[in-house]
Amino acid sequence: MGGGNRASGTPGYEESARYVENQLRAAGYDPVRHNFSYRDGSGGQVETFSILADTAGSAEHSIVVGGHLDSVRSGSGINDNGSGVAAMLEIARWMAEANVEAVNRVRFAFWGGEEDGLEGSEHYVDEMSDAEMSQTALNLNVDMMASPNGVRYVHDGDGSEYDDGAPAGSGAIEHLFLGYFAENGMEAEATPFDGGSDYAAFLEAGIPVGGLFTGDVGIKTEEQEQSYGGKAGSSHDPCYHQHCDSIGNVNHELLKEMAGALAYATIAYAMAAPAG
Ligand SMILES: [Zn+2]
Repeated sequence: MGGGNRASGTPGYEESARYVENQLRAAGYDPVRHNFSYRDGSGGQVETFSILADTAGSAEHSIVVGGHLDSVRSGSGINDNGSGVAAMLEIARWMAEANVEAVNRVRFAFWGGEEDGLEGSEHYVDEMSDAEMSQTALNLNVDMMASPNGVRYVHDGDGSEYDDGAPAGSGAIEHLFLGYFAENGMEAEATPFDGGSDYAAFLEAGIPVGGLFTGDVGIKTEEQEQSYGGKAGSSHDPCYHQHCDSIGNVNHELLKEMAGALAYATIAYAMAAPAG
């Protein structure tokens, strides 16, 4: 994986997509490709797709757990966002193996075209009917879960720290994540919905959003070094969007912790209708 990338429209994306689909099929899912196209920054037409895979359960309160599958062209994108994809795949596999009988349908969405402008998730939300829109209870987003100098960030759903306009219901998602970390003796803190990932289209459509992030170009503070270890004064991921975001750029411990939190929230919402 050292030399390639998973940019949308490339053979690397197709190969990665097949891997994801094979994993999902092996776990008993029936993944479908959601096709779309767009013009990239240099004016080229990109034909690509996202991959959707559903659990059983009622679509009345559909839970969309999403993360982008594509990478930038300059590297293989292992932390950004192979880490989120790995966590989603593992949760999907585990739910199937454990015979979790979801009350609410969980839709795992592996978005394409994120790095070219959040294309896959925007296309998905644009295409939803009014009925599908009102049946989508919430979106959980994961984009970078294993930053080498990372932090346990939870998106600020209640607006208490960043006032970033997340729809009503987003606060409950944030509190669920923060509660999980607190109960497990792990520090965690809020990060803004700055529009930089696939939750943006859901947020703009008024659908409750939440998610996890371990940091990209932000600089770790002294306080964060105390809480999480790592190195103050350095960025959370010095290989962000670079060639060196390869398999060596994975914080395994952090990935495990963040994936645990995502699994917890996914199951919580799969088993009970979210309280507003
Ligand atoms: Zn990303």
